[in-house]
Amino acid sequence: MRLVDHFIVGGPGGASARKSAIFDPNNGSVQGEVALGNSETLEIAVQAALKAQPAWAGTNPQRRARVMFRFKELVEANMNSLAHLLSSEHGKVIADSKGDIQRGLEVVEFACGIPHVLKGEYTQGAGPGIDVYSMRQPIGIGAGITPFNFPAMIPLWMGAVAIACGNAFILKPSERDPSVPNRLAELFLEAGLPEGIFQVVHGDKEMVDAILDHPEIGAVSFVGSSDIAHYVYNRGVAAGKRVQAMGGAKNHGIVMPDADLDQVVNDLCGAAFGSAGERCMAVPVVVPVGEDTAERLKAKLIPAIEALKVGISTDAEAHYGPVVTQAHKEKIESWITSCVEEGGELIVDGRGFKLQGHENGFFVGPTLIDHVTPEMDSYHNEIFGPVLQIVRAADFEEALALPSKHQYGNGVAIFTRNGHAAREFAARVNVGMVGINVPIPVPVAYHTFGGWKRSAFGDTNQHGMEGVKFWTKVKTVTQRWPNGSLDGENTFVIPTMA
Ligand code: NAD
Repeated sequence: MRLVDHFIVGGPGGASARKSAIFDPNNGSVQGEVALGNSETLEIAVQAALKAQPAWAGTNPQRRARVMFRFKELVEANMNSLAHLLSSEHGKVIADSKGDIQRGLEVVEFACGIPHVLKGEYTQGAGPGIDVYSMRQPIGIGAGITPFNFPAMIPLWMGAVAIACGNAFILKPSERDPSVPNRLAELFLEAGLPEGIFQVVHGDKEMVDAILDHPEIGAVSFVGSSDIAHYVYNRGVAAGKRVQAMGGAKNHGIVMPDADLDQVVNDLCGAAFGSAGERCMAVPVVVPVGEDTAERLKAKLIPAIEALKVGISTDAEAHYGPVVTQAHKEKIESWITSCVEEGGELIVDGRGFKLQGHENGFFVGPTLIDHVTPEMDSYHNEIFGPVLQIVRAADFEEALALPSKHQYGNGVAIFTRNGHAAREFAARVNVGMVGINVPIPVPVAYHTFGGWKRSAFGDTNQHGMEGVKFWTKVKTVTQRWPNGSLDGENTFVIPTMA
């Protein structure tokens, strides 16, 4: 049986004999195992990181950027095989896996500009003969703990910025699709990154706890579900670390009466069902404004959803593939059942979907449920599957209040031709990332990614300047070069620049 082992300097190590199955979501079989490490495994990685990091931090930023350039080229050269590897464990279709890798590479491209963004600030003559300057220095060792749904993009959100800033980075990816992170670590080495700067430890809660408690790890970036994000945030902060922890989501798409409904339906099909709905920026709730909009939208949505093709991840014609595990398939189906029991009107039912020739695959058919209301548990919670709920709103204010009051605040989109309504919505909605006629408003790498409310704990976002801030500490130097005379200064009062 294929074993995905830790990618750490000094060999796999550790005394852990625990392993976890890696499934092939297309047919439900076990295709390999991943090692589940413990504090001993982590210690080997931390020691290697401690050894390597000072020299890496002392490598000038331009040379660090050159490694990033080479890494980008290597990933591009290996795009096809990486995408197939990613799809084989995750289940998303190949084109989507390429998108996952490409969005990660865009953060690498941002990291190639690290010499520019690390320049710091300087004030000449802040006082008589006094200059002040600030510099951004690496934290030392940082860790990333990532979810299953973007096994290339999210490790690179964190890892590319962390190492470009001069840190050593230890990644603990999802145990469900662990192979691509190891492959990225190999390509970093091939690109010239010194050993010990990008390592991968595999595991579950035991490894996460070891990371959170390790005194040499100064910063932890987490992405996953909200309860675990909250736990990671609290435990990491209690241990004195800098922590950012991104959580779950329930993104709404608001459809105003004047929206171009053909465009909306096309956008919604991709945003709700693409990647089987397993995206934190998916749109699982659509809010038509007014009964007439709701009826017109529903009439167009039904045939579009019924025409979606569900297939195996290598089927180039498929719109989306299987979900990640049997347990997740069952959870999605039970949310559909509970939504119907709560009073939702099931329009298209994806439960019990079987793909011919792949009957044991983890497939869920596209599902549409109307007349969902804010009191329902299935609205309040994240389903993370190919399920679109329609929540009808009477007017703009009611539509605006829905995402604003929801426990999650990751992304939201408004579809309209009315610039005033869009502007008003963007300014007032209580959500971190807003799309105007853009269904999945994932910001470009040189801006920054992060939600509000229970979608993110901590106060810095991923990548862009926020990422650079997270992975560095500011040091401010006030310098004076006296010319030899004491100038009769009183040194017993707090110095001012007066
Ligand atoms: P998850 O929370 O189950 O796992 C995330 C990470 O936490 C994994 O590395 C996992 O090994 C670890 N983990 C699991 N259980 C743990 C425990 N009890 N204690 C400590 N660590 C534990 O999430 P997932 O199912 O892999 O990913 C899907 C979730 O991630 C969804 O909720 C989705 O919305 C969210 N997500 C959020 C963003 C964002 O940026 N806000 C992006 C992608 C995914």
